[in-house]
Amino acid sequence: MTELLQNFIGGRWVAGQGTGTSLFDPITGNELVRVSSAGLDLISGFSFARKEAGQLLRAMTYAQRAKLLEEVGTVLQANRDAYYEIATANSGTVKSDSAVDIDGALYTVATFAKLGKTLGERRHLVDGDSVSLAKDAKFLSQHLQVPTKGLALFINAFNFPAWGLWEKAAPALLSGVPVVVKPATSTAWLTQRMVKDVVDAGVLPVGALSVVCGSSAGLLDALEEFDVLSFTGSADTAATIRRHPAIAQRSVRINIEADSINSALLMPNCAIDSPSFESLVKEVAREMTVKSGQKCTAIRRIFVPQELFDSAGQAISARLSKITVGNPRNETVRMGSLVSRDQLATVKEGLAMLKSDSEVLYNGEAQPLVDVDPAVASCMAPTLLGVRDGDAGGKVHDHEVFGPVATLIPFRNLEHAQQLVRRGGGSLVVSLYGSDETALAATAVDLAECHGRVHVVTPEVSAIHSGHGNVMPQSLHGGPGRAGGGEELGGLRALNFYHRRAAVQGAQGVVDSVRS
Ligand code: NAP
Repeated sequence: MTELLQNFIGGRWVAGQGTGTSLFDPITGNELVRVSSAGLDLISGFSFARKEAGQLLRAMTYAQRAKLLEEVGTVLQANRDAYYEIATANSGTVKSDSAVDIDGALYTVATFAKLGKTLGERRHLVDGDSVSLAKDAKFLSQHLQVPTKGLALFINAFNFPAWGLWEKAAPALLSGVPVVVKPATSTAWLTQRMVKDVVDAGVLPVGALSVVCGSSAGLLDALEEFDVLSFTGSADTAATIRRHPAIAQRSVRINIEADSINSALLMPNCAIDSPSFESLVKEVAREMTVKSGQKCTAIRRIFVPQELFDSAGQAISARLSKITVGNPRNETVRMGSLVSRDQLATVKEGLAMLKSDSEVLYNGEAQPLVDVDPAVASCMAPTLLGVRDGDAGGKVHDHEVFGPVATLIPFRNLEHAQQLVRRGGGSLVVSLYGSDETALAATAVDLAECHGRVHVVTPEVSAIHSGHGNVMPQSLHGGPGRAGGGEELGGLRALNFYHRRAAVQGAQGVVDSVRS
């Protein structure tokens, strides 16, 4: 029998009951470890986190908690090699794809440690200036942001077991709010190992960081009014969670990052030999293949002027044909596997659905896989689809295929392109490629209303931009509508979720005192 990973809850390591659920190597099919959350006393575990760890965290200043994050970063850095091994084994990712998750996590922790220092020796935040509520300015209102006295529960998706934890935990801990993370079962090992390293190093107050691996049963029932819940995953699970009494009746604050049909848009009047055409082609091929397309921010729809449809299809296909797919342990392989056979089946099903109203421009299914048994491994080469009439093809605007699949769509003019982009119903990110800065800026402002992020690539920044799909801690992550309506990161804005805003009304002396 493989190892049963322990949970850390109520300030101690505890094994769930039963044999648990197995985690597998998606390349070999071998069982790696098992997880179980059965029988855990979540109510008292949550209570311990709120009362014991919450109190100790809140007694510190922002600068002191920033120092804790720095120490967390040192612990994670020291164990980085082990994280890469787990990622290869459990997520089937090549080294550069594991880096997106693991080094992305380390960078995010370091960024919040640095940002936190700027908040200094305070225990709450002042929000704006005071305003007079009386004619003679003797009675005023001052808004404050104070850390919530609840805990933060994170229910995470399978594709970012490292970054998905730390992009949320860093701002929560900096705010003084204890964290309980429930990673997606299929890749829970890396999250559990990171929590274990930090807990064992003793850098945080006991109970400031807890982990529950396995079923989510009972987690939401244990939430109280001042807790917050951050969910990342599918729109279907998000809908179930929104109906839970903790949210519907106890008003637990919730942030949802769900699926998203992101776009890349080549601006009108970009010629086939322009740097912008080249930038779009390069970025699309990269986004389709990094982490095998299992990124919530990956480009799913590519919009090009109609006269460039064929040449864009050929140029993207030419790049995709050079991507070797297979066993990430083989040095010739550029793209590893999907996370599981279940996920492979779901992606293939989604691809078949999209194919029913599109044409295949690059057929990944015909590409041989390297160093794997196709009957066992969860590998799949990229496929580029094309829809010549974007107004008619509905499925591509509605259905997220969470794998190496994207669809090329032509547009008549910029207005038409913007209409088509909006059919995604709200997305995490759109990227724009062109050289007319005025037109790009106007389009960015127009599309900002239905996106969390607009990523603009002009020739000047083509070699240095941070990437369509890379979520930077300094910039907002989240999106309206079908993307879940959430907001994460964005520098110190991330702390808002873990604070309560309140207005204190009183005399000048009281206001001066709460401001200091
Ligand atoms: P999922 O099936 O919805 O699972 C997400 C998490 O919810 C997992 O931890 C899962 O646990 C848990 N869960 C399942 N049923 C639940 C319930 N009834 N109550 C509470 N929790 C429950 O999603 P996924 O397949 O892991 O992730 C893929 C999706 O996530 C994609 O659609 C992708 O677009 C989205 N995603 C979005 C972002 C973003 O930032 N916007 C980032 C990454 C991924 P188990 O694993 O134990 O079932």
